[in-house]
Amino acid sequence: MYNGQQPIFIMKEGTERTSGRTAQSNNIAAAKAVADAVRSTLGPKGMDKMLVDSMGDVVITNDGATILKQMDITNPAAKMIIEVAKTQEQHCYDGTTSAVVIAGELLKRSEDLIEQNVHPTVICDGFRLAAQKANELIENHSKDVSENILTEVAKTALTGKSAGAVKEFLADISVRAVLSVSQEDEDGVVVNLDDIKVEKKQGGSIGSSTLIDGIILDKERVHSGMPRSVSDVKIALINSAIEVKKTEIDAKIQITDPNMLSQFLDEEEAYLKSLVTKIQSAGANVLICQKGIDDLAQHYLAKAGIFALRRAKKSDMEALSKATGGKIVTNIDDLSSTDLGLAAKVDERKIGESDMVFITGCPQAKSVSVLLRGGTEHVVDEIERAFKDAIGVVAVANEDKAVLTGGGSVLAAISRDLRAYAEGIGGREQMAIEAFSGALEVIPRTLAENAGLDPVNTIIDLRKAHSEGKSNFGVNVYDGGVADMSAANVFEPSRVVEQAIQSATETAVMILRIDDVISSRASSPMDGGDFDGFDM
Ligand code: ADP
Ligand code: MG
Repeated sequence: MYNGQQPIFIMKEGTERTSGRTAQSNNIAAAKAVADAVRSTLGPKGMDKMLVDSMGDVVITNDGATILKQMDITNPAAKMIIEVAKTQEQHCYDGTTSAVVIAGELLKRSEDLIEQNVHPTVICDGFRLAAQKANELIENHSKDVSENILTEVAKTALTGKSAGAVKEFLADISVRAVLSVSQEDEDGVVVNLDDIKVEKKQGGSIGSSTLIDGIILDKERVHSGMPRSVSDVKIALINSAIEVKKTEIDAKIQITDPNMLSQFLDEEEAYLKSLVTKIQSAGANVLICQKGIDDLAQHYLAKAGIFALRRAKKSDMEALSKATGGKIVTNIDDLSSTDLGLAAKVDERKIGESDMVFITGCPQAKSVSVLLRGGTEHVVDEIERAFKDAIGVVAVANEDKAVLTGGGSVLAAISRDLRAYAEGIGGREQMAIEAFSGALEVIPRTLAENAGLDPVNTIIDLRKAHSEGKSNFGVNVYDGGVADMSAANVFEPSRVVEQAIQSATETAVMILRIDDVISSRASSPMDGGDFDGFDM
């Protein structure tokens, strides 16, 4: 009793609040559930998931970030784990499943420590120390990058995806694509992945995918009377419609005599013709328009021998402008020869069932396109995701010039080194660092599990190899046991592992520090509150 006073409510009625251990264990349970949801997809022998959204659309994928994006998750702690995957994808393109699985395992091990009365802040301190040490260790284990290694990095990223069957082929395309857009400046190599345009076309085999030195547009020329192919190209890039302008307001014209009608139509015709004449007299032989082109204008363009496309995407217009040096013009009256972009050739080719336009030999910026093919929509979509991972990791490896051996080898090595490091720390933080060290083994363990191997034996073999200093030894998912991952050519960019450990740790720490969850009840219209009331 508070001196006989009434209890004080500081929050709105209906607000839910959990605190202390309950809050912690709820959060940890939610985070672990997310990690468990993607675990089975990890590694070369990981399985795929079929996701069906509320509209009935199906996505079949092995990609951690894609799975988590598609899942309709509302729990706040679970959402924080999904952020780990997003961050990983943004910075490194790959390693999303690993990052989430490590975060889940860190939390699982923290739970054991909390039960042993280790305070969460001590766990957080230990985890931070361990992550920092892990970062240093990653640098020590990193290897230099040659062009051969880049291909192996791409192959490692493609392994276990549906693209895995043609990984040699796709790895080769991704390395060639990245190398041709890599630029050297004083800070080293920079790769802008926007310079690699990925187009997909369903139909045909994956093996008929190609790399084109230029830009591909999934469009066809607007009129069959236009040339199918143009050399010595001068492109006009226009972002307004080539149509008779419609008035903003509804206007009526009264036509009282047939001459007036034909005069009216003649004027429209003359206007469209003048637009085409302007494009022609600027010297353009190709027109790419972001908006529509009137039928009659199409006819005049065809007569003038101009190859024209309409409704190009804004991003394509920008890419074309960059590659050809052309300026995007809004007002055709302003178009002059200096605005035109240059290319060696523009031609329309039949790809599968439809036509696509290829713009090649662009002199300005280096820009390449990859045309991905695959039997069905689901296949090409998943090939595209895997391929984007591949160009992403190749770009990262080429920029950083640092890779590590995969298959859980580096994590096993770091785990070993952290155990030794923990001994020098002592106290309860030592327990946290040891827990961290153990948590990193979740990757080799899961790789073994997913490959149908005995996870306990695999970890024992792995620890033995690493205690003998065989730091490149990882899980042999094909024949069982452990093997030298450098001999097996399993390489991944150091940045992928570094980022995975860092964001997993940060998120685990953030979740561990929460001991109070206050969630306000979604307000219903009759509650008042934020509700403005009915409009009367
Ligand atoms: P993520 O989303 O984390 O990239 P993946 O399903 O792509 O998940 O699996 C990546 C893991 O698979 C990495 O630990 C990588 O080292 C491992 N891996 C890839 N290829 C091999 C291989 N040939 N042998 C063993 N492990 C491999
Ligand atoms: Mg991967």
